[in-house]
Amino acid sequence: MIAFGCEDKNRSPIIEDRICPKCGRDIEVFLLGGRIMEDAVCECGYVIEAQEPILKVTDRKKEN
Ligand SMILES: [Zn+2]
Repeated sequence: MIAFGCEDKNRSPIIEDRICPKCGRDIEVFLLGGRIMEDAVCECGYVIEAQEPILKVTDRKKEN
């Protein structure tokens, strides 16, 4: 097993295979807490984009 330093187990990324919707190849994505940590690029060029953490959309700063 690969240890990720002293970090909390819950913070360890997991690698999951996703099927490319374009060419059908397996793409390895890094998941952390159920979301994609970083962009995963398929050999065909398709990109599975990283997912942002869920944020509150308040946009209060726009109301200057
Ligand atoms: Zn592909």
